[in-house]
Amino acid sequence: MYKKIFRLIKKYPTIVIARHIGVDPDAMGSQLALKEAITLTFPEKKVYAIGNGSSKFTYIGKMDKFEEPTDKALLIVLDTPDKKRIDSADPTKYEACIKIDHHPYMETFGEVEWIDETASSASQLVIELLFNTKLEMNEHIARNLFIGLVSDTNRFSFRNSTPKTFRLVADLLEKYPLDIEKIYQEIYMRPLNEFRLQGYIAENLTITDHGVAYIKLTNDILTKFNTDAGAAGNIVNNFNYVEDYLVWLTVSEDVKNELFKVNIRSRGPVINFIAEKYNGGGHAFASGARVHTMDEVDSLIEELDGVTKKYIEDLEKRCSHEDK
Ligand code: AMP
Repeated sequence: MYKKIFRLIKKYPTIVIARHIGVDPDAMGSQLALKEAITLTFPEKKVYAIGNGSSKFTYIGKMDKFEEPTDKALLIVLDTPDKKRIDSADPTKYEACIKIDHHPYMETFGEVEWIDETASSASQLVIELLFNTKLEMNEHIARNLFIGLVSDTNRFSFRNSTPKTFRLVADLLEKYPLDIEKIYQEIYMRPLNEFRLQGYIAENLTITDHGVAYIKLTNDILTKFNTDAGAAGNIVNNFNYVEDYLVWLTVSEDVKNELFKVNIRSRGPVINFIAEKYNGGGHAFASGARVHTMDEVDSLIEELDGVTKKYIEDLEKRCSHEDK
């Protein structure tokens, strides 16, 4: 697979690198790192990293201004399982397309697809690719890959951190001794108003009968805290390790796009198949959804409560079986 990908990269003079909408540090870190690695190895190539950027992630880098090429170009899509979630690129307009992803498979859109659900992050896959091909790396590339991996594993706390993840990171740090403390500050530093919003969420969580915690953040609340619908995405991971619930979600009203953004996390029940029913998706224990009405939000919560109930019942059955 590494060779196939490297051969295509070597072949095309113009390469466009895309990733999913709703950019996050893993998508952006892996994208900009791969762009820099290709440019470093093949300075004569034109390489573009495209999609909508975010002022929150300027510490990672900037997106390129770009129009889809008319000449024969290669598209590389990172961290995106389906066509409709690709930010600003249409694979059918390219002569060749490579997908590199760690989400559960959804559909095929590239002639070369490297999907590894066991990888912690798209950044981990790019580290692996760079270590196993002639693509070159430098400290800045290593930094962006480290940022992406640390973000998607929530500082190595999710079960997607495998021995392979730790081995790759150990090798990365051995080659490029990064200032980890500085990097963690860049990733996790936030304004006081966002921290205060976290306090508000903690105070006002509602918990369903079977242990689903949720908060509905209306535009009024978000405005009061001087934040927007993107804020909860930075906060949701901080609500792990509370023994009164197994699944938790933030619902944020996004008036600009006339929808509700939902961030869902779980410490047990698989949630992505439910998120998929609500214009969403993601990983087994970390998913997102976009819905248009509060009724849909309520029915999503109800379904999550249902799978949590089933999860607890199955767990109890297994325990009583083992006791016998
Ligand atoms: P988030 O809660 O935004 O951090 O997203 C958690 C995971 O769910 C990531 O892998 C996202 O790519 C995925 N995800 C978030 N929102 C959606 C959506 N509307 N559709 C499909 N996947 C999503």
